Amino acid sequence: MKPKTKLIHGGITGDPQTGAVSVPIYQVSTYKQEAVGKFNGYEYSRTGNPTRHALEELIKDLENGYAGFAFGSGMAAITSVMMLFNSGDHVVMTDDVYGGTYRVMTKVLNRLGIDSTFVDTTDITAVEQAIKPNTRAVFIETPTNPLLKVTDISKVSKKAKEHNLLTIVDNTFNTPYWQNPIEHGADIVLHSATKYLGGHSDVVAGLVVVNSQSLAEELHFVQNSAGGILGPQDSWLLIRGLKTLGVRMEEHEKNTAKIVQFLSEHPDVEKIYYPGLSTHPGNNIAVNQSRGFGGMVSFDIGSAEKADELLSKVKYFTLAESLGAVESLISVPARMTHASIPKDRRDELGITEGLVRISVGLEDAEDLIEDLKNALS
Ligand SMILES: *Cc1c(COP(=O)(O)O)cnc(C)c1O
Repeated sequence: MKPKTKLIHGGITGDPQTGAVSVPIYQVSTYKQEAVGKFNGYEYSRTGNPTRHALEELIKDLENGYAGFAFGSGMAAITSVMMLFNSGDHVVMTDDVYGGTYRVMTKVLNRLGIDSTFVDTTDITAVEQAIKPNTRAVFIETPTNPLLKVTDISKVSKKAKEHNLLTIVDNTFNTPYWQNPIEHGADIVLHSATKYLGGHSDVVAGLVVVNSQSLAEELHFVQNSAGGILGPQDSWLLIRGLKTLGVRMEEHEKNTAKIVQFLSEHPDVEKIYYPGLSTHPGNNIAVNQSRGFGGMVSFDIGSAEKADELLSKVKYFTLAESLGAVESLISVPARMTHASIPKDRRDELGITEGLVRISVGLEDAEDLIEDLKNALS
């Protein structure tokens, strides 16, 4: 199956009982047992629910993995994956990782004895140097948020395998439509499905795909034990959103290319971060491991004052956290999504006060460019 066909015909489709072409919302908590312990696949909805199962099968197919899992948020997905580890274990992570991921590692999981080291994972030597005797995994986000740094998934997973470590990839920005980390050696792929996969700013969810039976059993055990599951209604919304992921990603990409062109010619834009630019340091790797560059662009206009002015003038870009929806969004990571990262660390990384991040939506590119042009002048 080709990618757009898979989005519509992958996983479990429809309802064989009625012929309904969409999977029903099984709004149910428990299931009748014929005799004690004798049931028809489902016993209790934390353990398994048919609507959630259809979504889990779909994301498994989209990432070419062994099994899929749906959680109540991207953070629940990440936390559940970290629960595969034990107190005393250590994880090497991308340094400009999503702010919430940094927070859960350094303020919550550290208290339970799961330690982490943040390094520039685009530098394989830095990854290797951070590996300790108790390291269990390398967790990468690529491209990163908000600087769009690109890590070579094959290179990292090869290095990880040499040290018997798992490779975990946060694939939120590129989605399975543009990038399939398991094909490049990753063991676990996860998503904040709140973003492109849902695509309409109406659901918060997280998805995980693992590449082996043993990981599937371990993660199902965590999912059922810790219970951070996605409900049936939201599972259904995600299945619905995923059907159009392909057409949406193609359009996000086209709009983004036009906006990047505009920004790169604008005198007030000091720096622009987009993996599709041939001048971007990760461009070669992005071309090798992805089929597209996504709809996220960050650019630096020099100061918080200029950024505030831009934010106050735009009409079509909504000032909001999050990304990947049909409507274009704009944010200043230093004071919003990445505010939980200490200032000196942010400056070190290049997440300055003048850095603006846009999530290019599906409006007409001409309107979006006009909007930015007016707001920048
Ligand atoms: C939003 C986001 C998360 C967290 O997901 P939620 O659904 O908000 O919990 C994790 N990683 C990345 C890259 C994100 O953008």
